Amino acid sequence: MRDFSQDHRWLSINTATVRKSKGVDLPLPEIIEACVRRGIRAISPWRDQVQAAGLANISRLVRTHGLELSGYCRGGMFPATDAAGLKAARDDNRRAVDEAAELGAPCLVLVVGGLPGALQGKPAHKDIALARSQVHDGIAELLEHARQARMPLAIEPLHPMYAADRACVNTLEQALDLCDQLDPGRTAGESARTPAPLGVALDIYHTWWDPKLQRQIERAGKERLLAFHVCDWLTPTVDLLNDRGMMGDGVIDIPRIRGWVEAQGFAGYSEVEIFSTGQWWQRPHEEVLDTCIARHRTVV
Ligand code: ZN
Repeated sequence: MRDFSQDHRWLSINTATVRKSKGVDLPLPEIIEACVRRGIRAISPWRDQVQAAGLANISRLVRTHGLELSGYCRGGMFPATDAAGLKAARDDNRRAVDEAAELGAPCLVLVVGGLPGALQGKPAHKDIALARSQVHDGIAELLEHARQARMPLAIEPLHPMYAADRACVNTLEQALDLCDQLDPGRTAGESARTPAPLGVALDIYHTWWDPKLQRQIERAGKERLLAFHVCDWLTPTVDLLNDRGMMGDGVIDIPRIRGWVEAQGFAGYSEVEIFSTGQWWQRPHEEVLDTCIARHRTVV
């Protein structure tokens, strides 16, 4: 396993981690400046943040600073109640692929969606199997566009508590089943002649509890492991979405999981992704970034 204790060369910041500073929205260009000042070499930005600052502007900033991306957040949300909804999702996902390519991202992260309407508090039905089949078909269709754009797609399994409203793909095993169905030839990964398309984003917040985690990481192998997201699971967790912990403050054995991932040959960034309304978004972003660096070196 790589030694992270001497530097933060393999630290990436998911920009949602500092989307607010002292409770106030922090524009992406300022996030980028703050990362660059600290020698952070990679980020993973969110679409809404990029949109607010302008795609061309962010693309230019990334290149000017020689920053890398560890992913682009995010596509997905495939299920819908009718043909128009499915088409809207398809079109939006194609745009997300194109934006990811413009930014030079190594993959587009997919949060696949759950029951249509559930995120707005109005689920249209109770048929999670239907939602899952729409996810399957949506990814299959997007894959063709992604292959043309040479943009790998990373399915992110979300903790089962989000099955209704955010993602009905809830375990690494389920995500890999999809990968095997849609991309049996394992065309993703740098070893393939046509780089791209299908793999997983492994976020330990969503997957740490899974008794099959190690076995499924081994099943994924280097080709399918496209991104590695870290934070921590707090006890108690007071908000289902926005109470993620800083690495070291919770109960996840992060080095153990990183060891499993790196045993497969994964040598990419360890991306910090923390949504924290009550704690970290209330603090100055400089303090948050400095803490990310310190914890990356000591507990990741
Ligand atoms: Zn994640």
